[in-house]
Amino acid sequence: MRQAILDLEESRIREVANAGMGRAGVLAFWFGESDEVTPEAVRAAAVASLQAGETFYSHNLGLPELRQAVAGYTSVLHGPVDAERIAITSGGVNALMLAMQALVDAGDEVVAVTPVWPNLTAQPRILGARLSCVALRPRADGAWTLDLDALLAAITPTTRLLVLNAPNNPTGWTLSRTEQQAILARCRATGTWILADEVYERLYYRDDTASGAAPSFLDLAEADDRLAVVQSFSKSFLMTGWRLGWLVMPTQMMGHMGKLIEFNTSCAPVFVQRAAQVALAEADAITPRIVAHLRQCRDTLVPLLQGLPGVRASSAPGGMYAFLRVDGHDDSLALAKRLVREAGLGLAPGVAFGSEAEGWLRWCFASRDLSRLREGAQRLERWLHANRRS
Ligand code: PMP
Repeated sequence: MRQAILDLEESRIREVANAGMGRAGVLAFWFGESDEVTPEAVRAAAVASLQAGETFYSHNLGLPELRQAVAGYTSVLHGPVDAERIAITSGGVNALMLAMQALVDAGDEVVAVTPVWPNLTAQPRILGARLSCVALRPRADGAWTLDLDALLAAITPTTRLLVLNAPNNPTGWTLSRTEQQAILARCRATGTWILADEVYERLYYRDDTASGAAPSFLDLAEADDRLAVVQSFSKSFLMTGWRLGWLVMPTQMMGHMGKLIEFNTSCAPVFVQRAAQVALAEADAITPRIVAHLRQCRDTLVPLLQGLPGVRASSAPGGMYAFLRVDGHDDSLALAKRLVREAGLGLAPGVAFGSEAEGWLRWCFASRDLSRLREGAQRLERWLHANRRS
């Protein structure tokens, strides 16, 4: 086994979830997915495709109709994007890995903004890259912010790739337009590629963009900029288990991306791609409803958390997580395990996302039933009361 693989850490989110999964009555908010099933019309399209016998390989880059539909969807949100720039991938995580395989050699320097979903920092390590992290910092009110100057200083002519996820999992931090402009200018000057994970772009609760989506690098960049944008059907269409996403890259890269996809997965399943075509056709009916509900979830949970003694949490502008700090509990893995055992509450430990998030907990608020969130907050309140420090 390669040393880089031996060195990979097991997911600390899994560590808590595995400890809690056999337990009766645990309210689980540890994973990043909604508990609502994929819309009926999307499921029906997959069934119809299978019934019609669509059981064969597709083009490496995806069905031309789907690439076209993705390009249309993206163009409405961010201005013209050609279908030639789209590669259909087996989930957002596969899109991330493909982009890294295409861009990063062993020994290359990769800069990542953390805390972040652990896959984004594990993937460069798998490829043998040298990873350096620029940390977001929590403010007193619990909101996380970027030290833009520190990030710009970390990007040098030897930086091959900058990995960014905004809206961010786990903190909800979202890049502003001005920050994106400065980062793009810096990366143009240093010749650094930007890998922008924008899978939460539709889960955005501010109304400061024309499209309603979070600010995207696609809004600013030229078609041939060194930019790869990762997208997914998982969050905006409730399709986590389907494993479908896409990549937007410069046109001249796409022939090579087709080769890489051939050697990774060859193509995404056709019936899943058919379902995705319907998801995009129905996007105006599906996504705004999901986002409106998620906003309700956030606005139900976060004020309850803010009302608890010794708890810091802010209302994040994007994503589907509350990120909270409980005073006096600095070991987030130990705290998450205790909450499972003693309160029946399943949260993800902050340390899973980077050392700067040690002491924090991630709570996925994508719950169909708002009363689950209220019950979870009550359990935390009771536990805090029982464990009050004298
Ligand atoms: N990026 C981020 C930041 C995520 O949180 C996730 C899912 N948790 C993904 C990418 C990948 O999503 P998927 O592979 O389900 O498309």
